[in-house]
This record gives sequence, C-alpha cells and structure tokens, in this order.
Amino acid sequence: MIKLIRPDKPIELTPEVENQLVKEFKENGNPVWRKKYIVDTLKKMSHEKCCYCEVKLGTQSREMQVEHFLYKDGYPDEVVSWDNLLPSCRQCNSNKGTHDIIKDGEIINPSVDDPREYLYLKQYMIRSKNNDLDSKGRRTVDLLDLNNRSRLVTPRIEIADTMCKKLEDIHEKAIALSKRTDGKQYNKTKILNGIRDILLMAQSDAEYSAFMATIIMTDEDFIETKNILIKLKLWSEELDMLYKNAEVLKLDTNK
Ligand SMILES: [Zn+2]
Repeated sequence: MIKLIRPDKPIELTPEVENQLVKEFKENGNPVWRKKYIVDTLKKMSHEKCCYCEVKLGTQSREMQVEHFLYKDGYPDEVVSWDNLLPSCRQCNSNKGTHDIIKDGEIINPSVDDPREYLYLKQYMIRSKNNDLDSKGRRTVDLLDLNNRSRLVTPRIEIADTMCKKLEDIHEKAIALSKRTDGKQYNKTKILNGIRDILLMAQSDAEYSAFMATIIMTDEDFIETKNILIKLKLWSEELDMLYKNAEVLKLDTNK
C-alpha cells in the first residue's frame, strides 16, 4: 500500500448531481457511483491499481470496484461523496465488506494516511508496527488479508525472485566493468538499462510498488551496483530520479 494523492473531484459531480444520485441510491439501491468520470478519475489516482493490495486492475478477473470507505449501506448519504470513494480490487472490497470504520475501528485510508507510518515489511509479509489487535495497522492487514498466501504473498515472492536474479547478473557485470576486465560498451549499456528496468519496478505505477521498492533498495547487489555506477560516474540524473521516487515508497524493515 502506498500514499495516494486524491485528484480534484470530477467537475461532473456537482452538488445537484450528488443529491440526485444519493436520492436514486436510497430509492432503488442502484450502483450510482458507476459513472465513467468517477471510475476513470479513481483509476488515475491509483495508477490503475487496487488502493489497498496494489494489484494491477483492468483485466476481467481484476475489474476495478469503487470502494466506499464509509460503507454504502450504513452511510447512504456518502455514497458519491468524493472523499469517500477509493479504487479497489474485488477481493479487497469484499474483504472490507460492511466494516464500519467509525464503529468497528479505523483502518488505513491510503488517500489520507501514509501507510509507511503504520506498516513495515518482514520477510515478504506486510506487518503492523503496532501489533495490538485493535491498532489501525493490524486491523488493516487482518481485515484486508494483505498476506493472503495464494493471492498476494506467492505473486510478490515470484516477482521479487525474478528481480533478484536479474540484479545478481547486473551486479556481476558491474563488478567486471569496475575492474576493467570487461569494459565493452554493450555491457555498460546492459547494466544501465538493467538497473533502470529494476527501478521501474519500484515506481508508484508498478504492481506491489511498496513491497518492490523495499526489496530492491535493501538488496546488497542493488546497493553495491549503485555505488559502482556512482564511482564510475555512470549514475545518471534519470536513475537518480527513479531512485528518489522509489525511496519514498519503501517500507521500513523493522518496527
Ligand atoms: Zn486489493
């Protein structure tokens, strides 16, 4: 989970339209929030990912759902209130269900809170810094099932493993380059493109970006390769920008 910046309310959602949609929902229970201007703006806000578990949305089994932070049946007046709407995957939306964030306890709102204040990464698992059952972080992890093995942990491990293998290879090439045992231009290009590809996996539009940023930036091969490239004056402005973007998404690795 990463902090999201909420865009301005779509201009189509005027107070008159809101009132009309709330009325329609109360009368017929229609999914009045399923408007293209709402869906598209929410998708943009989260880079087309679920705001909670960071899976990429869009494919059939992963269609975007509009999540009501204050759940819709308990708070019908907020059913199209812009600040109450979040883009989520079907599974997270269903896991949250009718949880009442006022009566049953707060959870992290990624458009308001910075998840890094509440969560950290321990061995591929997202953990709460405060592990009390009634803490905001713990409730978020448990309610949304953010460490569901088959749905989230296994896919996260698979992406991380593939990335680590690539990184190992880039690191070896970087060492060879630094020792000038192999200064061939094609290797230099391979190293720079490789590191760039790795950093792209830790940007806010990448799947599981908080997790990937943490794994990459704490990886010894990555740290050493970066140092070699700086020493050889090959660490470009572009790489530095990508690095800084990733740095703000990285979770702590201890409480
Ligand atoms: Zn999700």
